[in-house]
Amino acid sequence: MSAHTEELRILQDTVRRAARERIAPLAAAIDATGEFNRDVESLCWDLGLLTLTFPPRYGGAERDQGTALCLAVEEIARHCASSALLLIIQAVGSFPILHGARPEVLDRLLPRMVKNRELAAYLVSEPSAGSDVGALRSTAVRDGREYVLTGTKCFATNGSVASVYAVLARTSPASGRDGLSFFLVERDTPGLTIGKVENKLGQRGSNTAEVLLDEVRVPAENLLGREGEGFLLAMQDFDMSRPAIGAQALGIAEAALGEMVQYAQQRKTFGKPLCEHQMIQQIIADSATLIEASRGLVYRAARLFDDGQRNTKLASMAKVFASDAAMKITTDAVQVFGGYGYMKDYPVERMFRDAKLTQIFEGANQIQRLVIAREILSESR
Ligand SMILES: Cc1cc2nc3c(=O)[nH]c(=O)nc-3n(C[C@H](O)[C@H](O)[C@H](O)COP(=O)(O)OP(=O)(O)OC[C@H]3O[C@@H](n4cnc5c(N)ncnc54)[C@H](O)[C@@H]3O)c2cc1C
Repeated sequence: MSAHTEELRILQDTVRRAARERIAPLAAAIDATGEFNRDVESLCWDLGLLTLTFPPRYGGAERDQGTALCLAVEEIARHCASSALLLIIQAVGSFPILHGARPEVLDRLLPRMVKNRELAAYLVSEPSAGSDVGALRSTAVRDGREYVLTGTKCFATNGSVASVYAVLARTSPASGRDGLSFFLVERDTPGLTIGKVENKLGQRGSNTAEVLLDEVRVPAENLLGREGEGFLLAMQDFDMSRPAIGAQALGIAEAALGEMVQYAQQRKTFGKPLCEHQMIQQIIADSATLIEASRGLVYRAARLFDDGQRNTKLASMAKVFASDAAMKITTDAVQVFGGYGYMKDYPVERMFRDAKLTQIFEGANQIQRLVIAREILSESR
């Protein structure tokens, strides 16, 4: 990590120590109970990790916010992927607000969020619209000086623990993706209720909930950006968040490699340690190689984002490569542990379950490949 600035190295060291000492001991219980952990949340606020992407006067990093987010996420994901997701979704849910809200709205909202330690959530997915964002059905209808929002949002990370929501809804029925707009909606607005809280395969300590909007009225000034700009804001958000999902996958993969190397040195079969069998060495070598390549892609995508350069292709490459690598490495880690890898007594089965989500959310990996191909084809026109 020698390419990082002094500030980033200090952040990395601080988060590394806090994650090892204060989050790692909780990780197995967080997974077992599947409950959102308020102690981890408090720690992340104390360390400034839930305002990293805010303007500096509200606790944000002075510069290199995308890289800072990735470094913090990677360090925490080495111990607890659910806890790392908290940082990602705070940044993702805040993005449309930070980049779309009017200055007077931000001046009112951000000091309050920081003071009261309020979480944000990102309400885009719906039961019939995940990958195909243009198919979403929630509506926002202008009524005088207000908009009225109605619809069902699903799979919202932080859905039932957030105070502030960035909601994507249709403001113009005729125009597909161009008819979508983001709105700032506060948790206590009448008509907003929490539906099903999901019971998940992995990243079980992150909160995932349905959020129901039944004629929720918000002031017109809560429109983020201009009408019809919602899809564009969502895509810009991905340029920041996809490298961060890659960083989460990277952290999980690094932990799995660490576990398999240690185990392969201790466990003996056929009179010698597992690590002296060449097929096990191949798994270790391939895993380490995938990790180095993932790290290169993740931090290159984040660097481009921080430098204000177009990173859409690299962001998708980082996300797809690192998540596929994490899935392979965690699967192989379970294999190296043999039957013990399948038991809850060892952490590799949790890593295997946690890794799977990184291939699905923030744009499933099939969609990332479509994005990469589209970017390449448009570059060559
Ligand atoms: C734990 C969790 C947390 C989440 N958090 C949030 C959140 O905070 N906010 C939010 O808005 N959403 C969130 N999501 C939703 C997530 O982004 C979607 O699940 C994801 O985008 C996929 O959408 P879908 O589930 O509707 O699958 P679908 O869109 O139905 O896709 C199903 C499968 O088909 C593939 N597929 C779809 N279209 C194509 C195509 N054109 N070509 C090839 N393959 C295709 C997909 O890759 C996928 O493998 C979360 C999901 C999970 C599981």
